[in-house]
Parts: sequence; C-alpha cells; structure tokens
Amino acid sequence: MAKTIYIAGLGLIGASMALGIKRDHPDYEILGYNRSQASRDIALKEGMIDRATDDFASFAPMADIIILSLPIKQTIAFIKELANLDLKEGVIISDAGSTKSAIVDATEQYLAGKPVRFVGAHPMAGSHKTGAASADVNLFENAYYIFTPSSLTSPDTLEEMKDLLSGLHARFIEIDAKEHDRVTSQISHFPHILASSLMEQTAVYAQEHEMARRFAAGGFRDMTRIAESEPGMWTSILLSNRETILDRIEDFKERLEEIGQAISKGDEEQIWNFFNQAREQRQAMEIHKRGGVDSSYDLYVDVPDEEDVILRILELLRGTSLVNIHINEENREDIHGILQISFKNAQDLERAERLISENTDYTVVIK
Ligand code: NAD
Repeated sequence: MAKTIYIAGLGLIGASMALGIKRDHPDYEILGYNRSQASRDIALKEGMIDRATDDFASFAPMADIIILSLPIKQTIAFIKELANLDLKEGVIISDAGSTKSAIVDATEQYLAGKPVRFVGAHPMAGSHKTGAASADVNLFENAYYIFTPSSLTSPDTLEEMKDLLSGLHARFIEIDAKEHDRVTSQISHFPHILASSLMEQTAVYAQEHEMARRFAAGGFRDMTRIAESEPGMWTSILLSNRETILDRIEDFKERLEEIGQAISKGDEEQIWNFFNQAREQRQAMEIHKRGGVDSSYDLYVDVPDEEDVILRILELLRGTSLVNIHINEENREDIHGILQISFKNAQDLERAERLISENTDYTVVIK
C-alpha cells in the first residue's frame, strides 16, 4: 500500500533520504518541509519530493511516517509541536539527529500517551556539504543506520522503518540511546574537538613560525580533516551531549599528562610502549576491515614519479565513481609513490584493479 512520507528538513541528510526512499518506493508520496526556498525548489525540481511547504504543521496530519532531519534543537521544537497536532493514528515519527538521548527524552516527555510511534535514528553518513543541492542517493550505502528504540517504539515500528529505508542500502543496527551517545562521544564528538584544537593551536603557532604552514603534510592533514566540519552542527552536538563529552576531555587530559611525564623523565620504554600499543590497537580496529564504519574500498597503485601517470590511471577508470584519491607522500621512496584510490563498493574496486592490472605494469595492492 502506498504511503505518505513527510520529510522535515531538506538538507543533505533529508534530501538524500528522500532519494533513497524513492528508489525502492516510487509509488510513495513524499512531502517536504524546508525553511528556505532554495532547497524546496531544488527538491521539487529534481523530483526528490512531490510537494513542498514552509509551514511545518500543515503537512504533518497527512503523513504515515514523519522524518525530522533538522538540527537537534529544531528537532526537539518540532517534536513538541507534533504533540499538539491532529496526526494520523499510529503515525511513525523518526529523526536523523547525531545525538540521541536529548531527542528520545523529549519524545518521552511530549509524545508519551499519544497514539503515535517514535524511533530515534542516526544515519552515520554525511559530509561537510549542506543543503538539498548536495543530496546523494548513495550517501548511506554500506553506512550504519542506527536506531535507538525507546518506550514509544514497537517491533513493527522498526520493521516499517527498515522497509521504508531499504533503498538507502544502509546497514541497520539498534542500540540504546544513552549508549549511542557515549560511543559517539568517543569516536566522533571528541575527535572533532581534538581536530579543531590542533588546527587552532597550529594557526596561532604559525603566526610566529611561518614554516609551520608550509611543512604541514599528510599526517597533519589526516589529523585535521574534520576541522572543516560545519560549526553549527557541531555546536549543537556538543551541547546535547555535554556530560559524556566532558568525561572524554578529562580522560584525555590524563593521558596527555602521562605521556608528558614519560617524555620529561626520558622514559624510553614507556614512550615506545605508548606508540606500539596504539599502533597495535589501530591495526586491530574495524577501520581496517572492509565494512567498518566509514569504510571505503581502497586500492593502492605503485606508480612511478612521471608526468601524466595519474591522468593515465584516471583515464582507465573513466565511468567508475571514485570516493577519494590520495597520494601518500609519506610512503614515497626514491622511485615509487603510492597512489591510493577509494571506491564505494567492492564491484568498483574489482573493476578498477582489473583495468589497471591489464593495462599497466604497475603493482596494484588491495588493502
Ligand atoms: P543541512 O544543513 O544540510 O540541513 C539542515 C536542515 O535543517 C535544512 O533543511 C535547514 O533549512 C533546516 N533548518 C536549520 N535550522 C532550522 C530552523 N531553525 N528551523 C527550521 N529548519 C531549520 O544539515 P544535515 O547534514 O542534513 O543535518 C540534518 C540532521 O542530520 C542534523 O540533526 C544532523 O546532526 C544530522 N546528521 C548530519 C550528518 C552530516 O554529516 N551532515 C550525519 C548524520 C546526521
């Protein structure tokens, strides 16, 4: 039976979800709310949604499923507003917020006792891009799509959501909202704080040490890439997960203190162990396995340092979509450099490996 889906917030996440839903459910009607006209117009023109409004309350009563894809504060404001609207009985409400406890708590406060269902959700994919213009039907492919069931979630709520979102090609997983916030504080929120702190420290330092800007290379780039994230989103993430993040900061201060003391004492063994342990721990982590969070499918080509060599490889890969391309300067030896190309899925990776192996003499390694 065709359903009516209402997506509030046609930004990167909301508009990408609309495309994913349309892929498997072309017969569903998708209604969209957006505050600014630009994303409404794009979403309509590109066929992501069927109808658009700038009045959130007006479309809500028509929906079988409502997805709030807005900043956390606004998500909570709309949950409050939904509590006073005459919604369809049994409507499912869900969201996309990057932290979950504050949102789930708001639903327990405002929606309990109403004939509605709710399941918190966090699609773990995204980028620094914003707005409907950046929407990508493949954004969520192979990414974790986390559900945080609560007292307003019945088993059929999850089944209906998974069916609705099947076209996203994401990997659904369930976890308690508080545990979600604890885990993401360690592996996502706190690393963003570190990246931005390191960036700021370096910028200040570079005022007196001009060469710092010039010498910053691959390691520094990898450590600070996420400092380019959207400030508004990260402010609301930190403010909605305060205690957990503060706990991580305190823990980290102790670690810095410890390695600082080892350096000051000249304790060679402790310093060696510090690096060695981290190296072993990283090597054992999901990141290195195919299918881990944010995993991509990487191929390394040993290319000679010659003119046009990268262009030649890209020419061979014409028609295959690349997620990223990177030259690993640090691994450069005298003659060979290592070109790292990342793909979104295994088929593209295999195709690329075959094309490069068949058409060049370069060594191709898949990791
Ligand atoms: P976006 O900036 O692309 O879109 C945000 C949307 O919210 C836009 O439609 C904007 O018009 C609307 N909006 C902002 N403030 C509003 C307000 N006060 N009133 C009404 N509408 C308002 O951002 P996005 O990346 O699509 O993020 C949406 C949600 O998804 C956020 O909760 C974010 O935490 C979460 N999320 C983002 C990512 C990511 O990497 N981008 C990943 C996972 C989850």
